[in-house]
Amino acid sequence: MKRELTCIICPRGCQLSVDINKENTEVTGNACPKGKQYAIDECTNPTRTVTTTVRVSNREDTMVSVKTATPVSKKDIFKVMEKIREISVIAPVKIGDVIIKNLCGADIIATKNID
Ligand code: SF4
Repeated sequence: MKRELTCIICPRGCQLSVDINKENTEVTGNACPKGKQYAIDECTNPTRTVTTTVRVSNREDTMVSVKTATPVSKKDIFKVMEKIREISVIAPVKIGDVIIKNLCGADIIATKNID
């Protein structure tokens, strides 16, 4: 199976060709090793950083922005969003506070201060 991808690791945006077969995965078009690893990951277990918001229960009409501290598998994104939608936090909240520990392999952390 062949796939064409654009590497998103750095602004250069190399156009990658990936040839996946049972024996090995061949990547061309990458200007550095990071592109090869990106292409392999994208074709075998693509991951994304999830960013969203969580309700602040003791502040009227207030949400705090959050994100996964590390990327999660694309297949787990709906599970992550579902769980985040169920919860609320109590202010004060500081950037970097862990809102949920180890959700599908990643901590959910605050990206905004709420006094
Ligand atoms: S392959 Fe390397 S140089 Fe090219 S976009 Fe990816 S990280 Fe940047």
